[in-house]
Amino acid sequence: MMRLQRPDAPLWLSENWEAWGKEYQQKRQEKPRYQFKWKIYKKVAVNHLLIPLLREMTADHCSFCDASPMISRLKETIEHFQPKSLYPLLVYQWANLFLCCYKCQGAKGEQFKHTLLKPDEMDYQFHLHFVVNFETGELSANPDNSPENQQRVKDTIALYNLNDPERLNDRICEFRKYTKISDPNVADFSYRFMFL
Ligand SMILES: [Zn+2]
Repeated sequence: MMRLQRPDAPLWLSENWEAWGKEYQQKRQEKPRYQFKWKIYKKVAVNHLLIPLLREMTADHCSFCDASPMISRLKETIEHFQPKSLYPLLVYQWANLFLCCYKCQGAKGEQFKHTLLKPDEMDYQFHLHFVVNFETGELSANPDNSPENQQRVKDTIALYNLNDPERLNDRICEFRKYTKISDPNVADFSYRFMFL
């Protein structure tokens, strides 16, 4: 999970997100099983308008596991950090939307904890929070951190299933590939946090 610099929301979203959130909340109240569908804005589905902007913010990496490139590796989607079922009013809030791979989103689903690390938080830095075990590919909480902060890391790893065995393997493979290339460009690799 790399630090993300979130640009300002696009104007069309700033102008509409609150009304669209209220509309969605109302539909859920009327029909609790109401299936979320992205709004259409000027004939284009809002998720199609958002994905290029979110992709720019993450340089086409998953906001949580940092896999890249998104389309060919793990398919991309938009993650509602605070989930739709619990926070329907935030369903179009710019700060709540992240580019995410299917794996991370599938693991987290509609779960949420206030302790979760958010990659666009001002003071978020990978190495302050995490350590990498280069033998196993495993991520863990930085033991130099406060117990509260370590708990945040543990919750984040658990909810996004960041230490799933397939991911550990993938991290090791990526690290080996990186070390075999002379003058590698970090941006071309998944899990950039390992190379910083
Ligand atoms: Zn991911």
